[in-house]
Amino acid sequence: MHSLRNLLQEAQENGAAIGHFNISDLVLLKAVFGAAQELNVPVLVGLSEGEREFVGVRQIAAFVRSLREEFNFPIFLNADHTHSLAKGLEAAKAGFDSIVFDLSALPIEENVRQTKQAVEALKAINPSMLVEGEIGDIGTGSEIHESSPGLSKGLSTPDEAKQFVESTGVDILAPAVGNMHGMLRSMVQGETKKHLDVERIAGIKRAAQTFLTLHGASGTDDEDLRKAIAAGINIVHINTELRVAWRNGLQDGLARHPDEVVPYKILPTAVDSVRQVVASRLRLFNRQWRFAQGA
Ligand SMILES: [Zn+2]
Repeated sequence: MHSLRNLLQEAQENGAAIGHFNISDLVLLKAVFGAAQELNVPVLVGLSEGEREFVGVRQIAAFVRSLREEFNFPIFLNADHTHSLAKGLEAAKAGFDSIVFDLSALPIEENVRQTKQAVEALKAINPSMLVEGEIGDIGTGSEIHESSPGLSKGLSTPDEAKQFVESTGVDILAPAVGNMHGMLRSMVQGETKKHLDVERIAGIKRAAQTFLTLHGASGTDDEDLRKAIAAGINIVHINTELRVAWRNGLQDGLARHPDEVVPYKILPTAVDSVRQVVASRLRLFNRQWRFAQGA
């Protein structure tokens, strides 16, 4: 079985990025795994602190590990947006493959100091766990926002990115490059799209020379995503699009079976609805990569 680090490298060499999809129930996990299997591409599932609280840290680790082993399939587990070392250590001990250690709300010096400590502590538990650090402001909340938070002042610079990576020892960096957590209502309705600062991504890649993650990619223009991957993005996070599809699919299932109480008869429409979104995003992220399972 490939390691996540090797797959990130292989994807990068093939002009592809690995899709990261947040889950907080079995409907979402089934949808993500089904889409990744259908396209035969590696995939990352992630859970924020809130999502982990709901599902259970050790329980989701056991579930994802069982899928990986039974199907010999490259599905990996990420501890998304972890704000304290205690929560990070809990995920590392449970066997998560990677972690997003997010102290981007703190002043940069404090972010550097605590992220460096976290890298050392997490690698002491699991040396192969990949640690991602965060800089800049991309807002919070993978949900529908009524108005834009105005993030242009929090964009990351190549110098800051290089310094952060060198001082902390992170394996992966998440910069602010025009991306934003959540979606505006107009994006959910398909009337507007997010746009990315592709030049800034290329500059950060040249300076930092490390794997880069794009957070908050729901609602982003397809062409911008293609260019961002070509400029050096290695992991793309999608959450809100899945949550919207989950709700729509669930409503559809309930409407189709007004008198039904059996969950596994109601929920397949929710799985299908999410799976279609995941498959379309995975096709975009992996379009040039002919991933060879078992190679
Ligand atoms: Zn994020």
